[in-house]
Amino acid sequence: MFTNRTGIREANERTVLSVIVNDGPLSRANLSEKIGLNKASVSAIVKKLIEQKLIKEVGIGESTLQGGRKPIMLELNKAAGFAISVDLGYDYIDTMIHYLDGTIRNRKLLPFRTIEKTTITADLVTIIQEITTKLPKSPFGIVGMTIAIHGIVHNNQIIFTPAYDFTDFPLVEELAANFDYPIFIENEANLLALSEHAKNSAYHNLVCISIHAGVGAGIITNDTLYTGENGLSGEIGHMIVQANGNPCTCGGKGCLETYSSEKVILDTYRELTDNQEAIIPDLYRAYAANDAIATKLISNMMDYLSIAVHNVITLYNPKVIAIHSEISRLIPDFPEKLRTQLPHLTAQNIEIKKASLGEEAILFGAAVVTISNFLEVPKFELK
Ligand SMILES: [Zn+2]
Repeated sequence: MFTNRTGIREANERTVLSVIVNDGPLSRANLSEKIGLNKASVSAIVKKLIEQKLIKEVGIGESTLQGGRKPIMLELNKAAGFAISVDLGYDYIDTMIHYLDGTIRNRKLLPFRTIEKTTITADLVTIIQEITTKLPKSPFGIVGMTIAIHGIVHNNQIIFTPAYDFTDFPLVEELAANFDYPIFIENEANLLALSEHAKNSAYHNLVCISIHAGVGAGIITNDTLYTGENGLSGEIGHMIVQANGNPCTCGGKGCLETYSSEKVILDTYRELTDNQEAIIPDLYRAYAANDAIATKLISNMMDYLSIAVHNVITLYNPKVIAIHSEISRLIPDFPEKLRTQLPHLTAQNIEIKKASLGEEAILFGAAVVTISNFLEVPKFELK
């Protein structure tokens, strides 16, 4: 694992920084009380963090009930550095630069890109240079980059990518030759789950389902991302939902993503309507107008998805299942419809919702990885 540019932070320092990042602005007295560390120790750590320009003093808070001087408040200096997030989609490259609190500085979506291992390094180097040239000077500069991969990732290595051929491609090593900050790669559905978790601190157990060209899930159990022995866990696109069903790229038959992926329903819609230009919003408009073809396709997608959701709940018993896809964002009652198709046992034990951070959720998950690594905080919440 990479170390960050501030060196290794000691435990109390990590705790103080974590509380300021997640609960700030706070006074030194608030910190002392919340952490249970004496005021002298808190003040010494705060002094060091201010000198490092990681936190800053911001105005005056309210005085306590007992009266006395109004305290100076402390918060994260969010412009002390920047994090880069990249979503390497099947046919697009989406990028975002974040402040250190995870908020967006700028975003650039490049649609209709061919993703190939022979050209991707040069492409990404050019794109990243372009989006970072105008960044203002900051104490830490770029603190890291996290790239979402639509495939299986384990220990910062690509294991399997069904849509673009990146098998055994050392993407991180190739990029590391061009940039001097830590670079992480992670499965896109796992990043989705990290963003949902960072946005909702009450969700200790959750599963996020990402439906695009394929279908994948990110699993958080007891506040920790669960990736399994070698990164395969959450590959619910290959959960078999129909015995001897449609053949799949994985070698199996009847896999979920051969019935419920957006690519499959869009391809079928194009074929049945003889309109090769149709896009997801066209399918949605037809569905909203009660078009028979669109209604049947969405209903079919829901049928298989509900089987998978039921299976996931019986395995992990999450508090929440959050769905992330273009079609689920467009259909207002998508989560409710899915829930009504679940058997009694699982329906009564689950909240199904749309992913909190919408279209950009995966990029925010990438920011969580980069920023938590840089700040070395045990917990990082998105505002
Ligand atoms: Zn499969």
